[in-house]
Amino acid sequence: MRRVGLAGLVVVIVALGLVVRPVAQGTSLTILSREGRKPLAVTSINNQDYVAVDDINTLFGTSSREDRQAGGLTIAARARSVVLSENQNIVSVSGRLVSLPAPPVRRDNRWFVPVDFLPRALSLAVETRIDLRRPARLLIVGDLRVPRVVARVDAGPSNVTVTFEVTPNTESRVVSQQGRLLLQFEADALDLAIPALPPQTFLSGLTSGETGASVLLTMGPRYATHRLSNSQADAGSGRVTIDLLPAATELTAAAPAATPGPPQPDTRPMLAPQGPSTGVRTVVLDPGHGGDELGAQGAKGTLEKDITLSVAKRLRTLIESRLGLKVYLTRDDDRTMSLDDRSAFANSHQADVFLSIHANSAVRPALKGAEVYYLTVERADAEARKRADDDATVLPALGGGSRTINLILWETAQARYLEQSSALAGFVERALSTRVGMSPRAVQQAPFRVLVGANMPAALVEIGYLSNVDQETQLGSAEYQDLVAQALMDALVKFREFLEP
Ligand SMILES: [Zn+2]
Repeated sequence: MRRVGLAGLVVVIVALGLVVRPVAQGTSLTILSREGRKPLAVTSINNQDYVAVDDINTLFGTSSREDRQAGGLTIAARARSVVLSENQNIVSVSGRLVSLPAPPVRRDNRWFVPVDFLPRALSLAVETRIDLRRPARLLIVGDLRVPRVVARVDAGPSNVTVTFEVTPNTESRVVSQQGRLLLQFEADALDLAIPALPPQTFLSGLTSGETGASVLLTMGPRYATHRLSNSQADAGSGRVTIDLLPAATELTAAAPAATPGPPQPDTRPMLAPQGPSTGVRTVVLDPGHGGDELGAQGAKGTLEKDITLSVAKRLRTLIESRLGLKVYLTRDDDRTMSLDDRSAFANSHQADVFLSIHANSAVRPALKGAEVYYLTVERADAEARKRADDDATVLPALGGGSRTINLILWETAQARYLEQSSALAGFVERALSTRVGMSPRAVQQAPFRVLVGANMPAALVEIGYLSNVDQETQLGSAEYQDLVAQALMDALVKFREFLEP
């Protein structure tokens, strides 16, 4: 019994040892020198990045000698030597003491030193500059020009801006190739940080160029031309801005054939911030879904795409006849249309208000009433970016269940209008509540993709729940649709008054 117990204990200790032993092969560093690029293996010990002294000797032409009795190691360069002691985070470089963030470690007959040993101690011994760029996992050896280049991509409704912060400021030029732009720097290499690309169709790839001191932009289908500008970001760094632009004909060509009259010329400068608008002259209504995309469905077969189109048409008639404003519908018939095209349509028609009309659905059949949404803009964090990559996200729905909506998390055109959009949503909610029932949470913020690209105050209204039997009947009736249209027009009147002091 006793023996078995001991054996069991040994097994437990061995197992623990395997689990706890804090050695793991990490990712490598890239050494950049006049000779080119070489990898340097990194081992994680106690959550610190370590490199093997053997590897240092191979790469830097140093040699090392162990003194087992003293528990020390000497690394010899041409003229100087470094003395290390196991478990001592101070090393001596020809008598000069240098501190390390963690002590050298001896493991499996090999010595390991923290990565910082290279710039702090080894550089003194080999009399060569060694620069550690931790975020880029680069180790720059010698006097190489390796500017830090941080790229940013901002997607607007009708352009994409790619900005490069360059530290220190470094000369660059743009070479236009077939479907690609190459940004070349007067440097030996780049310490390059590239973000994930937001969903858009101007830029399909942003990568390091083949020469090592360049960035390659691969163009998407919507790209036609670019505009380049250079500026001094601050004393130490420069900024290169490349605007990727569509063909000049795109905005007018984007208007669907159903729109009457000649194409509307866009007189506003395409890239100038338009700022909050001061009046309401043009309204774009967006009947949700259409074509293959049915939207929500009621138990009796009522389709969201039909209800939204019918309400939008009623509302157009009301606004045109009573308010004399220009009204455009993103779709006038039963057709499929992407969310981005809908906000792009509103932008190209210079709408002062964008209203997207939908009908809701929930797992809980009792849930009913109208809801109004305006956009939430979140700053991208790593996880959110990851989620945004697959574009559609399932959010928990009010009253149980879930709904799939299309998310985008970058700063956008709509961000400038959030205050006005919030006011618009408030007017819509108040107007609706006097004519139709509201759900318990009448005004909400959500990251609706269709609102993101809208360059004007925008809101999305869910006019009722098709999943509720009574409301399905209501939503299908001309009376209810007219009530909703009337309420939405009242809201636009209030919003116009709000904008015109
Ligand atoms: Zn919908």
